[in-house]
Amino acid sequence: MSEHIPYPWQQDFWQRIVQQIVANKTPHALMISGQQGIGKWHFAQALADYLLCLSPKSELACGQCRSCQLIAANTHPDKKIFIPEEEGKAIKIDQIREISTFVSKTAQQGGRKVILLGPVEQLNINSANALLKNLEEPAGDTVLILMTHVLSGVMPTIRSRCQLLPMSAPSKSVAVGWLNDLQVGDAETLLDLAGGAPLIAKEMVEGDYLEHLQIFVKTLDSLSSHSNDMPDITAATQWLPLSVNHITQWWLQIIHRILVNSGSSDDVLDGDSMDNLEKGYGVTQYVQRILSAGRHFNRQWLLKFSDKLILLRQQQLQGANPNMQLLIEELFMDWHVIVQRSIRQ
Ligand SMILES: [Zn+2]
Repeated sequence: MSEHIPYPWQQDFWQRIVQQIVANKTPHALMISGQQGIGKWHFAQALADYLLCLSPKSELACGQCRSCQLIAANTHPDKKIFIPEEEGKAIKIDQIREISTFVSKTAQQGGRKVILLGPVEQLNINSANALLKNLEEPAGDTVLILMTHVLSGVMPTIRSRCQLLPMSAPSKSVAVGWLNDLQVGDAETLLDLAGGAPLIAKEMVEGDYLEHLQIFVKTLDSLSSHSNDMPDITAATQWLPLSVNHITQWWLQIIHRILVNSGSSDDVLDGDSMDNLEKGYGVTQYVQRILSAGRHFNRQWLLKFSDKLILLRQQQLQGANPNMQLLIEELFMDWHVIVQRSIRQ
């Protein structure tokens, strides 16, 4: 059997697309969209394998034919993958130019050719236009499988030339069931932390995600204290191992929760989930203190700072390579101003 079998929550999507292929209505270009961490890329791989397999069984790639063996060895000449050369960076124009060359060649294994490309929102304008050209002149036997985490970040002209496949996150029970099968510990809490994305929850247990999250909230807690006249800039070095992606994502989540909570006089925290967090990972006490300090922060300033974080995320996606030390120090100063301003109100 193929190493890429669609996840349990993807069965409906899988049935739909396989039926289409069996009926000889394979789309020239498919755009799989949806939240990060729900297995879109895995699904795309499974589909590529299926399209290239010479004798699919039970609606999946057989895993045994010559084509499947080439795929397993990562040497299939008719399958091409285009992803950013560095994580979080842009897909380069030179990469997109390779598509035209690939499309113009005859399939070496006598079947289809398949291109996997994503995330599409990580194409800069030149690359996107180059891709568009390929979509305008579809080559008979080539199937383009595109993937995006942010459909709204994809050029409308690209979107309109693809068959769209919006993929929703699994229901909580399905995702928790899947995580439990992997024996990852407190599946429900992890899923909560991962915003409902099961693959992110899985990654959190495997990598240094939780350790980094702890470093982040601990430092932000101390920066949010009123007692400091100046922010502790030396703490910036502690954030150096963290990615811009994580820093901005976590910070935006915290600001969102501050803004949501600032109107209410009740307990700022959602009791149950936070209890679980505390038991599991020891980040709650810090988050709790940041949120309670945050109730006095100026909304306008928080929103302005959010905009800055969002812009940073976008620049990162477009391949920006900032000096991390300077960037973190600058963000520390910004936050310090927000904290200080709240005292004077
Ligand atoms: Zn096969």
